Amino acid sequence: MQQVVSPIPRVQKILGSQKVAGGTPCRLSAHCMRVEQPAGVLMYHTLTGELLLLSAAEAEALEGLPGPVPPALGELAARWFLRPLEADDMAMAEQVREIEGRFARKKKSALTGYTIFTTMDCNARCFYCYEAGWKRSSMSKQTALDTAKYIAVHCGGKPVRIEWFGGEPLVNTRAIDVITDSLRREKVEFRSTMISNGYLFDEALVQRARDVWNLFYVQIALDGTEEIYNRRKAYVNSQDSPFQRVLRNIGMLLDAGIRVKARLNMDGNNEVDLYALVDELADRFGGKTGFGVYTMVLQENAGVNPTSYTEEERRAYAQKFYSLQAYVEEKGIAARMPLKRGFVAHACMADDDSFTTVTPEGGLGRCESCIDSSVWGNVCSDESDEVVLQQWRERNPSETACKTCPVYPQCIRLKKCPGWAGHCTPIQQSYNRDVLRRAVLGAYEDWKTAEQNRQEE
Ligand code: SF4
Ligand code: SF4
Repeated sequence: MQQVVSPIPRVQKILGSQKVAGGTPCRLSAHCMRVEQPAGVLMYHTLTGELLLLSAAEAEALEGLPGPVPPALGELAARWFLRPLEADDMAMAEQVREIEGRFARKKKSALTGYTIFTTMDCNARCFYCYEAGWKRSSMSKQTALDTAKYIAVHCGGKPVRIEWFGGEPLVNTRAIDVITDSLRREKVEFRSTMISNGYLFDEALVQRARDVWNLFYVQIALDGTEEIYNRRKAYVNSQDSPFQRVLRNIGMLLDAGIRVKARLNMDGNNEVDLYALVDELADRFGGKTGFGVYTMVLQENAGVNPTSYTEEERRAYAQKFYSLQAYVEEKGIAARMPLKRGFVAHACMADDDSFTTVTPEGGLGRCESCIDSSVWGNVCSDESDEVVLQQWRERNPSETACKTCPVYPQCIRLKKCPGWAGHCTPIQQSYNRDVLRRAVLGAYEDWKTAEQNRQEE
């Protein structure tokens, strides 16, 4: 077997090597993800973070399990990929989580991640938007200045990462200019990303975004081919075909070296058309550096016409998600996912003390989907609402499906997260597993490239 990614050092230190007495019947760990490849089988341990490539013969030896560990697989047992039949994998993951949690609580984090809502206004009217019906406020020049000042004081001298969000963040470019100019004056190092519909970019704005806002990545939602996209997004005052304009802008962003991830929002009305969209995107942007596509099933219970699925529909959507995602991969335009390289101590930004959202009014919040209801402070004050902060740290207990889910050590679910439908749905399970699988494949591709370069040297 070959090591593709080494284990997370802190987890390795906590666990050490597993000692299994000879002849003890073993099975594969519940926290092991297998991905078949032409060169063998990739095995990723979601708790230790180690990724191995097994030869075909080693993979075949696995078929004899559960049972005593064959000599060829002794290393797999020492590295926790194989566990005695009666071992409790979840309990082990919980123990590591507890130890890591105590360590993380001792560290005082600087605030280095900011999701800034420059405006709640938008030039599109998507029926599924969870912000539909909210007040359309925009950040004033003074609040933008206060925001930059807050960042400079609270980033602890470290580089800062900003995500521009809205509404449509480009409806209020002035706030972005004011914040980035001010950070530059304060000598704060920063880079930025954006969640945008992509419509308002033009040649000059793309250059400014790259050179002044330090924008390196934009996520753009695409809902279908031209006619379907234009109908679903319902842009206000559009002069031309928004679809053609957004595709043109994606091209300009990529040419400027800014990465673009296209998010395909799937529901019952566009699931067939999305295949045609994938064809079109592959023709137009396939092979372009920085371009990637991923699929999401439209979120339930959000927007002006909220959708709600039965459990059977959720299972059907999980299959449709896999099929479309497989097609995206076949076309060679699947977005890369990063393999997590440290212990997963947070669910998301909402329970990570190094992150905050900033509302157009300067409120500091926890969750990008609960903009007003998660506010715990303000950019003009050093006071914080500890009750709100604590509420956003509370986690849901595990459920029956978690017992056999390989994602478990990397999956934390917050009680207040609006994205959960009371339990982990088949859609969420399929999405979490697919993200992990693609991250494993991405890490494997990097390793193969590095190996090849080493051999050529
Ligand atoms: S993806 Fe769902 S089933 Fe898997 S660990 Fe997370 S909550 Fe549990
Ligand atoms: S919606 Fe859920 S996952 Fe997203 S930031 Fe809020 S709490 Fe986190």
